[in-house]
Amino acid sequence: MSSVAAEKTSPIYPTYNRAPLAFEKGAGVWLTGTDGRQYLDCAGGVAVNSLGHAHPHLVEALKAQAEKLWHVSNLFEIPGQKRLADRLCEASFADRVFFTNSGAEALECAIKTARRYHYVNGAPERVNILTFSGAFHGRTLATIAAGGQEKYLEGFGPKAPGFVSLPFGDHEALKRAAAEPDVAAILVEPVQGEGGVRALPLPCLTGLRELCDERGILLIYDEVQTGIGRTGRFYAYQNAGGADPDILATAKGIGGGFPMGACLASEAAGSAMTPGTHGSTFGGNPLAMAVGNAVLDVVLDEGFLEGVRDKAILFKQSLESLKDRFPDVISDVRGTGLLMGLKAIPANTELVAALREAGLLSVPAGDNVVRLLPPLTITPDEIREAMQRLETGIAALSQHEKSA
Ligand SMILES: *Cc1c(COP(=O)(O)O)cnc(C)c1O
Repeated sequence: MSSVAAEKTSPIYPTYNRAPLAFEKGAGVWLTGTDGRQYLDCAGGVAVNSLGHAHPHLVEALKAQAEKLWHVSNLFEIPGQKRLADRLCEASFADRVFFTNSGAEALECAIKTARRYHYVNGAPERVNILTFSGAFHGRTLATIAAGGQEKYLEGFGPKAPGFVSLPFGDHEALKRAAAEPDVAAILVEPVQGEGGVRALPLPCLTGLRELCDERGILLIYDEVQTGIGRTGRFYAYQNAGGADPDILATAKGIGGGFPMGACLASEAAGSAMTPGTHGSTFGGNPLAMAVGNAVLDVVLDEGFLEGVRDKAILFKQSLESLKDRFPDVISDVRGTGLLMGLKAIPANTELVAALREAGLLSVPAGDNVVRLLPPLTITPDEIREAMQRLETGIAALSQHEKSA
């Protein structure tokens, strides 16, 4: 036993390999380290800080709500929930919303909703959820089973039943699995974030919708990372035509840093969750709703998402040119909108460290990718500054720069 925890330097669970860096404060895309340095934040709290740090509209909304009412529980009406739910439905396929505190809880609600839908429709045997290799759906016992990754399942006892992981991109395996009579739903991220910024081709989303319709299977999107404008549309599935899901999990960017999430559902799926079938003490509390509504004030404002799409073009083109100049460090540029990935040739963690040294924060992902998730509010000038810092960090790992 002693071999595992030889020295204890902190009472915090040692579950994270933390960078040796803390921050004093933030403003927009900038973070001030306790080391006094300024960092350009392309980690974005892992796609959470959708509007950057200390956005004045969010600060104002949180302060105003804090002086009125923090929490009452879901035993009472919470007007902010109705308002936010109406707006989420208006901006998406959904008719029903359940508020949670996190992405994993939004997924738990999505899974329960899918099974419950079949249960109330006379098919209680339909419990299995089809998922894809490389997926990430959270760290609860059900969501590690859904993700299917051995490294997250190991040592935590029996894997929760009812999840079937299929090879990413294997259409035949999917068709065979979907023909089984016990399938409740297909669960998929339109772009795998943790899995290495791997996008499902848009026609595949439409194909999944058709397959689900043929088989009476529900389609669930995990848009915890891709939602709230990250890919240049409010939800990533909206980049494809005719690929509405039945259920969608959203979190991260919806609170701009305030912990919250939601499960969105069609009328048919959401209405299966009758009184008493689900609950959350904190979910949808007045503080969270005030901030969530404030985030939507900005993201759904006219022209905002169009601006994200424009900036994403500039960002991607600039990254492509870095890839061309440093082919011994970057082998691929991926992503949609402001969810971008650089496939690294050295270890991605090495590149993340070099970029941090150059004053830019990024996030490692699967498949040896470095993720860049800047606030959606980043300006073209800040993108140019990000490129300079990226260049410095990348050049530090390069043996030879190719002349442009
Ligand atoms: C982050 C993430 C989750 C888990 O969200 P938590 O808030 O950490 O529980 C689930 N799915 C995807 C796609 C994510 O990126």
